[in-house]
Amino acid sequence: MAETESESGLKIVDAFDLDPELRALLRPGELVEGIGGQYHHLPRYFYEIPSHEAAREIRVTPHFGLNEFLLVDLKEAHRVRAFPRYIPCAIRIAAFYLERLREAAGAPVHLAVNGGYRSPAHKLSVAATPHMWGTAADVYKIGTVVLRDRASIETYNRVIEDLTDDLYVMPYGHEIGKADDHIHVDLGYVTVVPREISEDRLEGAQDKPRCAFEERRRGDRRGWPREPLPEVLPAAAHAGSTKSESQK
Ligand SMILES: [Zn+2]
Repeated sequence: MAETESESGLKIVDAFDLDPELRALLRPGELVEGIGGQYHHLPRYFYEIPSHEAAREIRVTPHFGLNEFLLVDLKEAHRVRAFPRYIPCAIRIAAFYLERLREAAGAPVHLAVNGGYRSPAHKLSVAATPHMWGTAADVYKIGTVVLRDRASIETYNRVIEDLTDDLYVMPYGHEIGKADDHIHVDLGYVTVVPREISEDRLEGAQDKPRCAFEERRRGDRRGWPREPLPEVLPAAAHAGSTKSESQK
């Protein structure tokens, strides 16, 4: 029953401890200016993804694998495309919201190439875009609908706006700051510090690299008893909450 290595989850690293080349590309903690003139600190804590196989196998939510957020072409820096790869820990939150979007749309949500995480060295990273935080996604297709025209983009933009105020959607249009061949959603400049890693003010490589392994969060993966739990929530409460949610 006791698992060994697979007992722990993803490895979290402090990007200040990465090799100089990677650190220069990821620029942890650096201030970057956004299109509106606001400045934001780039993320510092990243998940380390050892291999292509791991990227394919690791699910962040039931329907989103890590690999979907890592799809990039030659616009991304060569070293950033090579394994081990690094992705900001906020990716979990982005995936959580995309999973909610999938539910609301009732169909699979497909991310575009270069539509997930983009490092500061990516050719499309001209200003601080939440893609550099791992908190943005470019969706090019939902179910069988290819999002390439005003009707489809505005329809799903509305679905997203009805879903939550936490997500920003780019309006339809051809100018900068608008989108005409995908839906851009983002959560803004969210950074996540997983509970397992320790924070400090040492913004340079340390002799002992700072890292941690994420614990498995779900009880079933940690080997909790499989027997069904006694009924705690009254059935009526279930029905009530579902109803009020769908009426919002
Ligand atoms: Zn985008």
